[in-house]
Amino acid sequence: MRIDLRSDTLTLPTKEMSEVMNNAPLGDDVYGEDPSVNALEEKAAAMFGMEAALFCPTGTMTNQLAIKVHTRPGDEVICDKLSHIYLYEGGGIAMNAFSSVRPLEGHLGRITAQVVAENINNAADVHQPITRMVSLENTVNKGGGSIYDFNEIRKIREVCTANGIILHLDGARLFNALVEAPETTLDYGKTFDSISICLSKGLGCPIGSLLLGSKPFIAQARRYRKAMGGGWRQAGALAAAGSYALDHHIDLLRADHRRAKAIGEMLAGNSWVEAVYPVSTNIILAQLSQHITATDFVEKLKTKDVHCVSFGKHLVRFVTHIDFTDEHLEALKQELDF
Ligand SMILES: *Cc1c(COP(=O)(O)O)cnc(C)c1O
Repeated sequence: MRIDLRSDTLTLPTKEMSEVMNNAPLGDDVYGEDPSVNALEEKAAAMFGMEAALFCPTGTMTNQLAIKVHTRPGDEVICDKLSHIYLYEGGGIAMNAFSSVRPLEGHLGRITAQVVAENINNAADVHQPITRMVSLENTVNKGGGSIYDFNEIRKIREVCTANGIILHLDGARLFNALVEAPETTLDYGKTFDSISICLSKGLGCPIGSLLLGSKPFIAQARRYRKAMGGGWRQAGALAAAGSYALDHHIDLLRADHRRAKAIGEMLAGNSWVEAVYPVSTNIILAQLSQHITATDFVEKLKTKDVHCVSFGKHLVRFVTHIDFTDEHLEALKQELDF
């Protein structure tokens, strides 16, 4: 049995989702005439209590649009050094927004209000770039799916407000955090100036991310999306999948997390594994023994038709998702026993 835990982006639409996609009413979204796209954008904005939303092909695009709209060339963006916007978006902050980055040392990809406060530049000093925005990630991919403490987020918001700094959230996996925490989408909408969420990860859609924010912010992001070549036409089938996922797939994430915890325990018993990061959501990071490289571990599992990815010299990542069932979990137990 093939077991593919490389990423939660690998999922295929369920039968129900495919039906919704096939039946979606369509129009030209560049003209603002795709009813399914409009419905998704309105639905997401309402969920978060935000004024407007923009449906885009990728989370890289929604993050990059946010940074582009919020900053001016030469400004500085504060984030944790493990952030996706810094590590995995092709240098897009420099390429698209001409901004510099202040990557900070956090704990499992999370920074604190105190560290943010200590790293805000003096805007009156011409030597220093102007600190324009802070970007947080929740959950943190490179932090092993770790979840931010919302009290800390509130404190970071206070620091940002006191200093006139914008607060953005890369919420590619925000729903994974939300099903494990008491906060709501509305709490997040109230706290951040802009939010990016991915539909193509744990929510099981084939393609799609949403950018949320104020009406003028989204209007500007829509302009830049067009300039980047991201103005799409009959995107409604993808949007309909997104609306379906927001209605039906959020609750399924809890089962992904339960299975992830079980995998964490299996890996802890594996002789090649030295330590497993705390498993909070659907990502499992395993630290290997010093004499075993991640590449060798990945290759070894590949011979058993089990697939994960290298995440550092001695670090491997597994991600659970909607296509990984209890049956797969049971089969994995034997494969990891060596
Ligand atoms: C996946 C991901 C994104 C967006 O990735 P795309 O592949 O461009 O959709 C952004 N941030 C984080 C933390 C992610 O894991």
